[in-house]
Amino acid sequence: MSETLLEVRNLHKTYGEGSTATHVLHGLDLRLEAGELCALLGPSGSGKSTLLTILGTLMQPSSGQHEMLGRDLTQAGDRELTEFRNRHIGFVFQFHHLLPDFTALENVIFPAAVEAGRETAAMRGRGRELLARVGLADRIDFLATELSGGQKQRVAIARALMNTPELVLADEPTGNLDRESADRVMQLIEEINRDQGTTFLISTHDEKIAAYCRRQIRVVDGRTA
Ligand code: ADP
Repeated sequence: MSETLLEVRNLHKTYGEGSTATHVLHGLDLRLEAGELCALLGPSGSGKSTLLTILGTLMQPSSGQHEMLGRDLTQAGDRELTEFRNRHIGFVFQFHHLLPDFTALENVIFPAAVEAGRETAAMRGRGRELLARVGLADRIDFLATELSGGQKQRVAIARALMNTPELVLADEPTGNLDRESADRVMQLIEEINRDQGTTFLISTHDEKIAAYCRRQIRVVDGRTA
């Protein structure tokens, strides 16, 4: 039986005020079941990043309900949200945001080490395991600058998985890659979803990328179509 991972209801988001106000989300509803692999489709400017930023608890909606893992996140304070995000949500962005002077392994464990206030042997072990999982066992000690675009994005996926999140939000993760690297990244996401049951929500405007996902959600006029 499927289990609801997250649900948003009647979500509204407006940036700015008065004559410069931009209404982006207009009563958007969305439910994700645990273990889904979903594409979030819509043209540029349709509000995909806005939705992912809200779902990632990095920004509050203007109004509406947001629940995840049975928690009402619209009522949560900043500290609670940070803790929740660190434990349950991973992020992959269009640009990998790796630290150039750090190795692949250091990049993967850096956020976890910062959060814990130190780096542990267990973190290094988990980081190595994840880099092997994304096909980079032979690149563990390479600097980020010594990796190709596709390899950097696979390091970013390993980093997103470090804390074993239930949900990974990926904002145009293949937007900066050539077709072959993009396909490899999507195949990897598909495998991780299948083997570990991690839920993925992946924004894209590319139908070929969306076709890797079992479910496609379209954002049209600030609502899901
Ligand atoms: P998408 O990811 O689908 O391209 P976005 O969520 O990035 O869409 O943007 C949706 C709309 O919101 C756009 O018109 C954009 O200009 C506007 N927008 C996004 N972020 C901000 C912001 N911080 N302040 C004002 N407007 C914004």
